[in-house]
Amino acid sequence: MADGAATLTDDALREEVRAWLAANWKPLPPEQPGAGGAGWTTSPERKAWLAKVVDARWAVPRWPAEWYGRGLSDAQARIVEREFAKVGAPGTGQDRSNLWANTALAYASPTFKPKIVPQLLKNEVGMCLLYSEPGAGSDLAGIRTRADHVGDHYVVNGSKVWTSGAATADYGMLIARTDWDVPKHKGISFFFLPMKQKGVEVRPLRQITNESHFNEVFFTDAICPEENLLGPLNAGWGVLQTALAYERSVMGEGARGPRSGVAEATNEEPLIALAREAGVLGDPVIRQEIAKVIAYRRLNALNTARAKADLAQGTSSSIMSLGKLAMSRILHEEARVRTMILGAGSLLEGKDYPRAEDANFLTLNAYFTSIGGGTDQIQRNIIGERVLGLPREPEVDRDVPFRQVRGNG
Ligand SMILES: Cc1cc2nc3c(=O)[nH]c(=O)nc-3n(C[C@H](O)[C@H](O)[C@H](O)COP(=O)(O)OP(=O)(O)OC[C@H]3O[C@@H](n4cnc5c(N)ncnc54)[C@H](O)[C@@H]3O)c2cc1C
Repeated sequence: MADGAATLTDDALREEVRAWLAANWKPLPPEQPGAGGAGWTTSPERKAWLAKVVDARWAVPRWPAEWYGRGLSDAQARIVEREFAKVGAPGTGQDRSNLWANTALAYASPTFKPKIVPQLLKNEVGMCLLYSEPGAGSDLAGIRTRADHVGDHYVVNGSKVWTSGAATADYGMLIARTDWDVPKHKGISFFFLPMKQKGVEVRPLRQITNESHFNEVFFTDAICPEENLLGPLNAGWGVLQTALAYERSVMGEGARGPRSGVAEATNEEPLIALAREAGVLGDPVIRQEIAKVIAYRRLNALNTARAKADLAQGTSSSIMSLGKLAMSRILHEEARVRTMILGAGSLLEGKDYPRAEDANFLTLNAYFTSIGGGTDQIQRNIIGERVLGLPREPEVDRDVPFRQVRGNG
């Protein structure tokens, strides 16, 4: 089925997906909040379902047949996604949303790829992103964690910070410096680092939302097998751009909702339901604010879909930055409007006031999207330089060998 799109009609495909779902899909028990972290599931029922979807080649229908796919066109893959969505079944569309698997498919070595790709699609391994360091966040190319080639492996030393999901991860997608005598972007390599080893220490950090999803990670002679290098040695910056574009596309699509667990009253837009419940739906100013947020959200969904259509395998799309930036604004606006709807009641806190608790949580959690995956200011720089073609920001250390940059000698 290497060229499924050419041989299959849309109707035949739709029928095939429907029949398969009718024979196999049973609703799953709800996921434990926070289980696994970083999009990883710990539920055995969910894992069993994902394995079934992968084995039936519905997980990544755009991918080629030799990599669990069906070689379908984007339009046909969307038919599959729609049929899954209609019954509420997860697991398909990973060829757009699974940043780990897409990065591995594009860049993993011939020996590592067959091992890791199915594990990622079936959620058999937990993952984290080992990018930011205490001195290198926005200026990610300034990382100082090093990986030295010794025999048939790399030895990793240094530290990372703000690493979501590190405590449960089996692998981290790591950027580390492998050549100190070339300019900063040119001496970085990209690895799948095994996390469960003596040389990796994870220390949790407490967040403003009183949660603890992210961590500091310290490497002391941690070992990374040679085959876990993604892309060529010292070409990790290019691999990173692909991985970041997938991450931004996911962040541009949405974020966590309220955490109180108290259901919204109806199936209507959450802000409308909240305003109705609070008795202020007739207030013209509140109506206007709600309409504005809903319009932003709808517009951003369309823009993100357009950007995703541009994101071919192994390439990056700067337009993803637009969607992520817009989502950051939407989340801050939504939290503000929630607070406005509740009025003085939003100052309350605790289990007895779930609506206020949600508004406060969403206000603080909106910073997740405006900082994580690259800050709003950095997205604006990317849009300015790569989408609008404005002059590059001055960067005095760009062409200097990294060892000669002040502080690295
Ligand atoms: C919830 C959350 C989860 C995260 N998860 C991970 C993770 O899993 N893995 C990981 O590696 N990292 C993660 N991060 C880290 C995140 O990617 C960094 O915090 C982010 O890139 C900013 O880096 P920094 O914190 O060092 O801030 P800095 O780079 O020190 O920036 C400080 C301020 O200066 C501004 N600034 C910096 N440079 C410029 C410039 N050139 N132009 C304009 N303004 C500029 C920034 O916008 C920001 O406002 C996470 C962060 C958050 C908030």
